[in-house]
Amino acid sequence: NMVRKVYPNLMPYVCQLADLPVEEMKQALGKDQVYKLSFNENPLGPSPKAVEAMQKALLQLNLYPSSNGEAVLNRIAEKEGVQPDNVILSNGADEMIILVAQTFLEPEDEVIIPVVSFVQYLASTHLMGAKPVFSPMKEDLGVDLDAILDLITPATKTIFLCNPNNPTGTVIPADELRAFLARVPEHVLVVIDEAYHEYAVDPEYRTSVEFVKQFKNVFVIRTFSKIYSLAAARIGFGIGHADVVDAINHVRPPFNVNSIAQAGALASLDDEQHVAESRRINQVGKELIVELFEELGMNYLPSNTNFVCVDTGKDSKFMFDQLAERGVVVRNLSGYGLTTSLRISIGQPHEMQAFVAAMKDII
Ligand code: PMP
Repeated sequence: NMVRKVYPNLMPYVCQLADLPVEEMKQALGKDQVYKLSFNENPLGPSPKAVEAMQKALLQLNLYPSSNGEAVLNRIAEKEGVQPDNVILSNGADEMIILVAQTFLEPEDEVIIPVVSFVQYLASTHLMGAKPVFSPMKEDLGVDLDAILDLITPATKTIFLCNPNNPTGTVIPADELRAFLARVPEHVLVVIDEAYHEYAVDPEYRTSVEFVKQFKNVFVIRTFSKIYSLAAARIGFGIGHADVVDAINHVRPPFNVNSIAQAGALASLDDEQHVAESRRINQVGKELIVELFEELGMNYLPSNTNFVCVDTGKDSKFMFDQLAERGVVVRNLSGYGLTTSLRISIGQPHEMQAFVAAMKDII
């Protein structure tokens, strides 16, 4: 047997209906029109300035990109108030999660993961043959930091936090997070995935970039896939202590971010107006569905993201199927033990209206 011992734990990325690109989704459902509200994509599309820069970059496809994305990295450092050696680029936030695991995890290390959180933390833990330790959520589905502290052992190597959290949309208050970080032993790396950072509206939320300056063992992950709407380009980044970044750079493949993505990201960082418009559209869509949930008497979690987590009170698989029959594809959360919950990505207002109409038809 040629494959590594961890092989049985590794799951190939097999697309379910909710993971398909729209055209394939239409085919699978036999429909001319579908509303894909399952992938937390930005319905606005990228900044026109980014598109222009990317088109220009296309003219130099014969040349290798900057190996580390120097220009983007410098601009991020400037924007976030850190040094360039605190920043590292990746092929989407997904690759950053893998790079962290490859850099810091060894077989038998323990990795603490909140039970209702982004799935790739578990996948990269398994990749390295490390041991996932799931921490329970609070009753309100917030991340339970005290429960995490109780689970730390000498074998704990990494803690993955997602803030704002996918798929709940909730945030960890900054003061609680700081108190938590002060109690985490230094040998434990705390990874804080802020993929949805720019959508957060709760005044108690703050980025953990400020904690990177206080605690050597904090590493923040961000992405250009969400607010900047560059999901197809695959670019994300991490911010951490220079030693942490240097360690990850020992593992990072050269040229891991292509030149088109680098050009798009750089231009995006300068288009504040596009970011504001993305946020505005999100707010409009969010208000539309929250209004529906109020009307239907369904409990939903406060959303600090571009999706809303709702308890429909009915079997999630049933609701997922009923919506799909009407051409609306959302995320079924039963895999997290939330057997009556769905996660609905926020699209354009007309997409949200399609969702509202489908829900009213079902209920
Ligand atoms: N982290 C979280 C919490 C996410 O929701 C996602 C996207 N689904 C990612 C990381 C991966 O994003 P990217 O497209 O940058 O790989």
